[in-house]
Amino acid sequence: MARGKIWTEREYEILKKCIHKKKEKEIAEILNRSLKAIQLKVFESGLSDKKSPLWSKNEIEFLQANYCKLRHKEIAKELGPLDDTARKNISLSKQKEKHPNWKGDNTSKENGRTRANRWFKQKPCILCKNKKGERHHIDGNPLNNNLNNIKFLCRRCHMIEDGRLKKLSNLNKKIK
Ligand SMILES: [Zn+2]
Repeated sequence: MARGKIWTEREYEILKKCIHKKKEKEIAEILNRSLKAIQLKVFESGLSDKKSPLWSKNEIEFLQANYCKLRHKEIAKELGPLDDTARKNISLSKQKEKHPNWKGDNTSKENGRTRANRWFKQKPCILCKNKKGERHHIDGNPLNNNLNNIKFLCRRCHMIEDGRLKKLSNLNKKIK
């Protein structure tokens, strides 16, 4: 997507004044810009309809990692029901990914785990139903926070799953 014309202060003022009174399509005509350009600017500046606020930074990050692999229905399971604004935000966050300021998944492993904890609500262990499920990265890569790479396991089942428990008991046998 082309970056388009730079926004002047005046144009931005007009946008701010009109956004809650006029339709985006009308504003696009007033400012002689495309509808997409208006929507992207509204998205980037956090200007939005008060009734359905734009998503939080966390939610947008979640979408950026998951939108291409997930259907709207699956995203809705994590973030709640999707109304028209939400759907629009999804397609805008797709555009946003192509934005030069988007840093993508270039983050540390620790960062990846923190993100997983932030994005995915705690759920019970899928094996023993212990309420304290941890977010286990199935492929072993903590940066891969796609929903289908996350499995909820309690500490014990998690340790069985990744072999830590076996190592520990082998170690205990050796010591004895
Ligand atoms: Zn368990």
